[in-house]
Amino acid sequence: MPTPISRTVAVIGAGAGGLVAACELRREGHNVVVYERGAELGGTWVYTPDTESDPTGLDPKRKFVHTSLYASLRTNLPRESMGFREYPFVTTGKPGRDPRRFPGHREVLEYLKDYAAEFQLGELVRFGSDVLYVGMVEDSKWMVKSTNKNNGDNNEEIYDAVVVCNGHYSEPRLAEIPGIDEWPGKQIHSHNYRIPEPFQDQVVVLIGSSASAADISRDIAKVAKEVHIASRSNQIGLLGKLPGNDNIWLHSMINSVHKDGTVDFQDGNEVPADVILHCTGYKYHFPFLETNGIVTVDDNRVGPLYKHIFPPALAPWLSFVGLPWKVVPFPLFEFQAKWIAGVLSGQTLLPSTEEMMANTEAFYSLLEASGVPKRYTHNLAAYQFEYNDWLASKIGCLPSEEWRKQMYDATSNRRRDAPETYRDQWDDEHLISLAHEDFKNYIP
Ligand code: FAD
Repeated sequence: MPTPISRTVAVIGAGAGGLVAACELRREGHNVVVYERGAELGGTWVYTPDTESDPTGLDPKRKFVHTSLYASLRTNLPRESMGFREYPFVTTGKPGRDPRRFPGHREVLEYLKDYAAEFQLGELVRFGSDVLYVGMVEDSKWMVKSTNKNNGDNNEEIYDAVVVCNGHYSEPRLAEIPGIDEWPGKQIHSHNYRIPEPFQDQVVVLIGSSASAADISRDIAKVAKEVHIASRSNQIGLLGKLPGNDNIWLHSMINSVHKDGTVDFQDGNEVPADVILHCTGYKYHFPFLETNGIVTVDDNRVGPLYKHIFPPALAPWLSFVGLPWKVVPFPLFEFQAKWIAGVLSGQTLLPSTEEMMANTEAFYSLLEASGVPKRYTHNLAAYQFEYNDWLASKIGCLPSEEWRKQMYDATSNRRRDAPETYRDQWDDEHLISLAHEDFKNYIP
């Protein structure tokens, strides 16, 4: 094995992805600077009651807020499977902490702070540093231009490599609805949803079927007059009033909306509504990144990227952590970060640019042949553990634990079958025991 080469690396963002990238890069011997425009680490887990000046999140000049958390949010994954492999997300017993298996959002932030403290990552982070530009300069180096939000200073620095970890739940995507320009009601994207009170006695139409859509519809139904959920995935046989709820109805998608405030659904129903709440997802967004067209975002595909991480023509000097969705994020980020760190130090070899490009194009062709839309490119639901295990094989670490895979499936099934109770009632105690056996390898 050659001696590891130490590189200078800029990491953009101090959320879970940026923290684990910084940890693994430094462990591998690199010199790391983490740019974080916020005042604290944790990224999306830094809750604020503040919302944006444009509730739809579309106005590029709006007052911007990074997080999309709502006040009542509890994790949709059990803590055993959610945590980093090398720093399990166990209850700490510290005062004020949330010991629940599916804890509230504050507990996740505290966990990330504990992780950063354990590995002394805070000293690598430049808080208040907003990255405005990342681009190539001569000799395959990268220029990072940033501004310090505290004192207004502008900085330009050169690095061997940049790892982009800026998150992808801040730039809303809205459904296109015929008639929406003349519809008189209020529109809001879930990015700007925090608490139900503003919806008191309102008729709310909520579009979407994600875990957040399920939570938010129930949160709002506590105070709203009616909640109507419009979704492509609502099954025809199940349309109508949601069993066990007095004021939630399931519909197919919206057909059109009208000047008099009514919303027509494809199932033939219509309701006069006060609010349309778009739980319709987010767009990948890299406003600071200049690659001369080498990396683009096309219909929410960030590409071309080898294994969702390296643009073949710029590898390994530019990489992305955290693009995959419908996954267990933290452990997946950990595998990605280890691979990037090893490739940059020369301990792990990448295929040639041509081979990476051919592999990536073959992957895109396979998606197309299978009828998977481009915007689902980074949806790894069906093979996230296979993906992790491929990365594990490259970096010489153990593949995903069997208990974690089974726990993911068990949780997904419970979430689908019992969305109101899956966080508090379970029957996978045996998997929890196996997880804790495994954690003994990491917790003294
Ligand atoms: P983020 O956490 O978004 O961090 C990105 C960081 O980059 C931010 O701190 C931001 O300020 C910084 N940044 C961005 N641009 C710049 C710039 N130009 N200059 C400097 N800094 C910049 N995951 C789970 O595991 N379990 C759950 O239960 C769960 N629930 C979720 C619920 C909701 C509503 C949402 C939105 C997400 C949820 N997730 C959940 C997924 C969650 O996003 C990931 O767990 C993870 O936190 C993403 O980390 P990240 O580092 O990729 O991005």
